[in-house]
Amino acid sequence: MLLATDLDGTFLGGDPADRLSLYQTITAHPDIQLAYVTGRSLESVLPLLADPTLPQPDYIIADVGASLYHGETLQPIQPLQQDIDARWPGETQVASALADIPELVRQDIPQARRCSYFCTPERAADPALKEIAEALDCDLLYSADLYLDFLPRGVNKGSSLLRLVELIGIDPEQVLVAGDTLNDLAMLGCGLKGVCVGRSEPALLEQTQHCARVLHADSPGCGGIIQAFSHFGFLGEHGFAAETRRATEPGQAELVIVYHRLPYEEHRVAGKLQRRRPTSPNGIIPTLLSFFADGRKGSWVAWAVDEGEEPFDSHTTVDAERYPRLTAARVPLCQADVDTFYKRFSKEAFWPTLHCFWERASFHEEDWQVYLRVNRAFAERTALEAAEGATVWIHDYNLWMVPAYLRELRPDLKIAFFHHTYFPSADVFNVVPWRRQIIGSLLQCDYVGFHIPRQVENFVDVARGVFPLKTLAEQNCAPRFVTYGCAVGLDRMTTALDTGMRTVRLGAHPVGLDLDRVRNALARAAVQEQMAQLRQELSGVRLILAVERLDYTKGVLEKLKAYEVLLAENPELHGKVTLASICVPAAREMTVYDELQTQIEQAVGRINGRFARIGWTPVQFFFRSLPFDEVVAWYAMADVMWITPLRDGLNLVAKEFVATQGLLAGSGVLVLSEFAGAAAELKGAVLTNPHDVADLVQNCYLALNMPRSEARSRLRELFDIVGYNDIRRWGDEFLGALETEVPTAVVEAAV
Ligand code: UDP
Repeated sequence: MLLATDLDGTFLGGDPADRLSLYQTITAHPDIQLAYVTGRSLESVLPLLADPTLPQPDYIIADVGASLYHGETLQPIQPLQQDIDARWPGETQVASALADIPELVRQDIPQARRCSYFCTPERAADPALKEIAEALDCDLLYSADLYLDFLPRGVNKGSSLLRLVELIGIDPEQVLVAGDTLNDLAMLGCGLKGVCVGRSEPALLEQTQHCARVLHADSPGCGGIIQAFSHFGFLGEHGFAAETRRATEPGQAELVIVYHRLPYEEHRVAGKLQRRRPTSPNGIIPTLLSFFADGRKGSWVAWAVDEGEEPFDSHTTVDAERYPRLTAARVPLCQADVDTFYKRFSKEAFWPTLHCFWERASFHEEDWQVYLRVNRAFAERTALEAAEGATVWIHDYNLWMVPAYLRELRPDLKIAFFHHTYFPSADVFNVVPWRRQIIGSLLQCDYVGFHIPRQVENFVDVARGVFPLKTLAEQNCAPRFVTYGCAVGLDRMTTALDTGMRTVRLGAHPVGLDLDRVRNALARAAVQEQMAQLRQELSGVRLILAVERLDYTKGVLEKLKAYEVLLAENPELHGKVTLASICVPAAREMTVYDELQTQIEQAVGRINGRFARIGWTPVQFFFRSLPFDEVVAWYAMADVMWITPLRDGLNLVAKEFVATQGLLAGSGVLVLSEFAGAAAELKGAVLTNPHDVADLVQNCYLALNMPRSEARSRLRELFDIVGYNDIRRWGDEFLGALETEVPTAVVEAAV
């Protein structure tokens, strides 16, 4: 069959349960073809195509019948379209002819092959308009006592639908037409089976009351269409009731964490799977685990390698003593999928784009298909784990598409998403070929969190290019965040959006530190020994420290270049400073980093070759990952911590340095890129622009020469922030914000 339906007030209207039921039925029945027949233009239909809860149409008849498209390719349906085009005099011709008519205001919405105006009923009756239409060889269509359309002669929703039915060769008896306003009359009055859904425009009801094949339904929107399905017997004897069942039965978990990694590490030793505590460098996993310490029933969904050689455990306990009611739900992935999804595609396509290095990104449709498959597997597993109305907390860009699948399977869930990486503005993000699907998925969440307001607002910027969104609430970013003082600062941010289907709330929650982890490291004898040794080795030399992963986002080369200039311009520093750079190599398979590594090695060689003297090495480069304890010893010894990412979601190293020095009441100076998320939070840092060598040099020099008293007071300010906004507070605030409703007063004011 073919369901040919109007959108606004019909297919998009009605009770949410009826909408879900109809949408699920259409998706589940491949033999139901769907045609959107709408007054909207294609551009205004595109947001609907990005909405994962809506079934995708096979055909789109847009512009009140003047435009016809194939749903999948969005290409015009020929030869129907060219026949209509031949009859259309052209937009400017029509608009110019109507320019002098008073009270005729052009609608400021997208429109093609038609000109649409706001018009009073009196003006619509003006014979002059008819004359102009005659002269242009156009038809006039007036509806809802408000909209006046000039259309190509003989074109309306009904004529275009009939021609489509003929072209695709479907039996007209197998077509159901649905509408609710007078501009649907043409298709409801053309002899096909039809329904005027509940609350239709009275004039439409009046003019269709004698049409024997048009049902006047009681239920509005989708409910009316469902009534028509059973009235005309379209789904056979089983009817609709059988289709409205829930896609998945609920599970038991009140809180489900959906994270790409398990909360423990799995290693294969002599062919056997062994588990170890995570060596995760930050405190996120322990913090997320701590939400289950009170005995809350929970589930942690993550992937695990399954090559099908031995039985696969879909569930394991995480730590029976500490988290008695938490289970890990393992999503089986073969090694090839892990490599594509996690190591290659996410890193090659999304990582560069998210960090504004879009020219480095490469996109492959076949990899996206793997990504979708993996995300669907995560969503299906999650749907089975979560209890009725449970909270699901999804993490990071590897899992962007989980909300889309999950919302369809489990509309009852509270879905929250935290984005751990930077999020760029539309100018950058829009290079992603699948941006509409990604945004459509994220807008299925109840709450989306980022580190800082700038990332929230960039997300809103991208989302506005995909959906028509209404801002429901906003708030000032100060005093928690920097406003105009850094490149990623912002004065105001959006905190709630209305998508038309749901309210999506947004928030800024910079990840914090587990201070005990630093405290414990400092208390260990081995760390103190190491500090003593470093102190001895560095005597008489001031230490500039850099700690980062090998990644083009981190600005390692820019830093080295600036250091070279610093030494060249300030000979008095020779022998007195050293730059120790701890650079963690990327996994061997990530060959994109090979060239950068070579360039860094060359730069280090060049600087040392140019300036080194017996007993003094200007740059000491450590191309390896050090244990956290050892990194803390280095933090403790640094006079200047030089953090220079060209773009960074947050930067935990900055906070770890502050924590270490703060706990030791030290006087190290933090020089931080104003493009790191942490710059919007860490007031007291010396900010620097890593895209500008002169600025890097100047601020490093300033930090080296900063009076100790100023350095101490800056550090106190920083330590106050890092100590207060720790990782526990991050988790509590995120989950707390998810529970809070948008204040109605704010919503009303915004509306
Ligand atoms: N790190 C480490 N060993 C090293 C260098 C770094 O354990 O040799 C840790 C560091 O302590 C920090 C993390 O790696 O917790 C880097 O986090 P950050 O947010 O600064 O950067 P990301 O790598 O997440 O972009």
